[in-house]
Amino acid sequence: MIYMTGNELRTNFLNFFANKNHLVLKSFPLIPDNDPTLLLVGAGMAPFKPFFTGKMNPPQPRISTSQKCVRTGDIENVGRTARHHTFFEMLGNFSFGDYFKNEAIAWAWEFITEHLEMPTDKLWVTIHTSDDEAFAIWNNDIKVPAQRIIRMEDNFWEIGPGPCGPCSEIYFDLGEERGCGKPDCAVGCDCDRYLEIWNLVFTQYDRDEAGKYTPLAKKNIDTGAGLERIASILQSKPSNFETDLLFPLIDHAAKVAKVEYGCSNKVDVSLKVIADHIRSMTVMIADGILPSNEGRGYVLRRILRRAVRHGRLLGIEKMFLVEMVDVVTKIFAQPYPDLEEKEAYIKKVIQLEEERFQTTLVQGMELLNRHIEGLKATGVTMLDGATVFKLYDTFGFPWELTLEIVEEHGMELDKQAFDTAMKQQRERARAGRQASAEQVVIPDLSHLTAEELCINEQASAGSVVLFWKEGVIVDEVHDGEDVGVIFDVTPFHPEGGGQVGDGGFIEGPLGKMEITAVKKLLNGTVYHLGHVTEGSLTVRDATLLKVDMPRRRAIARNHTATHLLHAALKEVLGSHVNQAGSFVNPERLRFDFSHFSGVTVEELAAVEKLVQHSIFANIGVDITEKTQDEAKEMGAIALFGEKYGDSVRVVAVGDVSTELCGGSHVKNTAEISLIKIVSEAGIGSGIRRIEAVTGAGAIEYINLRETLLQTTATMLKARPEEVVARVESVISRVKELENELALLNTKQAHLEVQELLAKSEEINGIQVVVGQVSNGDMDGLRMVADMVRDHLKCGVVTLGAVYADKVNFVAMATKEAVARGIHAGDIVKQVAKVAGGGGGGRQDMAQAGGKHPEKIMEALQSAVEVIKQQVK
Ligand SMILES: [Zn+2]
Ligand SMILES: [Zn+2]
Repeated sequence: MIYMTGNELRTNFLNFFANKNHLVLKSFPLIPDNDPTLLLVGAGMAPFKPFFTGKMNPPQPRISTSQKCVRTGDIENVGRTARHHTFFEMLGNFSFGDYFKNEAIAWAWEFITEHLEMPTDKLWVTIHTSDDEAFAIWNNDIKVPAQRIIRMEDNFWEIGPGPCGPCSEIYFDLGEERGCGKPDCAVGCDCDRYLEIWNLVFTQYDRDEAGKYTPLAKKNIDTGAGLERIASILQSKPSNFETDLLFPLIDHAAKVAKVEYGCSNKVDVSLKVIADHIRSMTVMIADGILPSNEGRGYVLRRILRRAVRHGRLLGIEKMFLVEMVDVVTKIFAQPYPDLEEKEAYIKKVIQLEEERFQTTLVQGMELLNRHIEGLKATGVTMLDGATVFKLYDTFGFPWELTLEIVEEHGMELDKQAFDTAMKQQRERARAGRQASAEQVVIPDLSHLTAEELCINEQASAGSVVLFWKEGVIVDEVHDGEDVGVIFDVTPFHPEGGGQVGDGGFIEGPLGKMEITAVKKLLNGTVYHLGHVTEGSLTVRDATLLKVDMPRRRAIARNHTATHLLHAALKEVLGSHVNQAGSFVNPERLRFDFSHFSGVTVEELAAVEKLVQHSIFANIGVDITEKTQDEAKEMGAIALFGEKYGDSVRVVAVGDVSTELCGGSHVKNTAEISLIKIVSEAGIGSGIRRIEAVTGAGAIEYINLRETLLQTTATMLKARPEEVVARVESVISRVKELENELALLNTKQAHLEVQELLAKSEEINGIQVVVGQVSNGDMDGLRMVADMVRDHLKCGVVTLGAVYADKVNFVAMATKEAVARGIHAGDIVKQVAKVAGGGGGGRQDMAQAGGKHPEKIMEALQSAVEVIKQQVK
């Protein structure tokens, strides 16, 4: 075998495949370019996914890379095994519909046996159980003895539906002394003896949703070989950590901690964790990731804080990560020269995060140790969620770190309770953000002179003048915090004049912040409220100011449209129309105006048409600063009750509209594209309100209406243009049916009346009719009772009917029966009581309802008893 440094190995690999006509590309960044489902690139093939799925064409059918990868799925194994890492490099060669198994196998073998000169008697290969093709190549062409080719069920690569296929792995036998010694120890054993160095994936099928495999027309090759692993073999090291790719870091950390490597397992684990993690964090930060509590930023924070904690375990009290960046930069000087260029930046990010965690780490560990001791004393093995949350929230412990620490003591933590606490905190924060946007505590800013601070729509950069947090001025803000900020110059429009403020982002050298509200102090100073999403920001930081332009343009379209609407209303309804208020946001506009009668459909259509006419007319919008008098001369409309300074902003839309206004506007009316009035109504004495949408909002509105029409047409089995006629015919058919039904009901009622009368009985000279009828609603029931009563001279009728899941009752008595003591109200009261309800009424007529339809007969029977008692 040939001794090679990590750099030599990487170069040799790429040169080898360059000679096989591969395009050698630089490693892609860790942040996936076009794959939102992926947090970080974790394999050589990840950046090539669109080429494998056929969504994009590769620049060349053969490509080779050494790809930076970060994986954190097995982070707790880092340092405990010979080859788990969070950061590693994957060597790979790829074929997109070009060469296939023959070449992939032959070249892999050629590289490791001829260029690295690995002895063939140390090499083993595995293939998929079904892959006779690969077996034939390995056995016949490469001459690997059959007993060294192991068929394995697991050798199949697939992730859900999509391209997939069998794979073939190459193993290096590190020798018996590295094995577990079990009699069945062989390739695939969990122990360290057989080291997988290269995985060749033969993407030859397309798997559909149903699990059916169809051979691909264009077959692909995707291979991955671990740089650190192969280096450990070539350098005859017991693990990846002793190679020149990692050992200088261990060496450095050991010197700082004043410990020796290789004397104690516990010490070695911490040294290895630090060596691995400093590589990860350096490369992640260089690729643009900043610490935060979400996504990639959280992965970075977790790795960095885990490294700090292992430094503490080694007894390192001071900050130590920053100076280790130099060692990483030196190791990676050849493949990743950008690390050196970005060194100062990387160090600053690490320094801020390390400082933040160092200040709370000791207190947090004290709290955690106290809890662990307490649990041990009581025999409990589960750390409660509240403590996990406190460690996270107050002391900055990623929960995974707490889990690792409690697991070292053979305990667990209550993840569910922690999640609940997290969720509650997020909701509180959200509510807090809303509240703080409504009612923000502003510190004393009287020392600021407004002259230094200005609004400039074109500004794209500014410097932070001050930050505040919960009403207190601070120098520095960190991710996760809700803060207020003032810049020396800002392109953000504050809210005012009925228009919402701009939104967007600001980006400092070491952090990012989302702007959620922009407001103005009485003296005109614009302040911004927002949420720090990543990293940290400091006063006097030079920042990029990025207004959410699509949102602003939507606001501007709606705002200019209100001016056009105002002018059109004056023209159509009369010059008495005046603006009484307005509200403009990106989605819609609202315009309140004085007018003392209703607005007809025709008038509204005329207004909309007039505004649309101005939009089509392509009129330029001029914004100028004028003195009050100049503005008056121009005929600008000033709003009653609004105060203006000496100089005023005049917004003129050709000769259509001239208004004093501080809001956002389009440059030309054509940008509005389309206006649709959505509603018009009176909202108070003499004030009416129009709501409208413009631009994309108007199109969306029309599309929604279109969908409604289409859905209705489909339900009516008609074309859209037939809908009106079809609905008319449906309505008239419904009327016919209703009439027919009424007729049938009357007929039915007559029949039931006859039946009821036939069953009547006489009690002390009073004719008593009791029964259930089919027409259940109260009106139908009363009609039948009426008809029965009309047949009685001295009598009383009590009827019930089931209606929906309830029961209705009615009782009626003739004059003569009332004279004999009958009381209809008392009868229904009793009847309804039996059926779980109540009611009552007059002596001659009463109605009631009950909740238990199944008791209807029992209830009606009870009427007879009441009547017997009532008769004199
Ligand atoms: Zn073994
Ligand atoms: Zn305006």
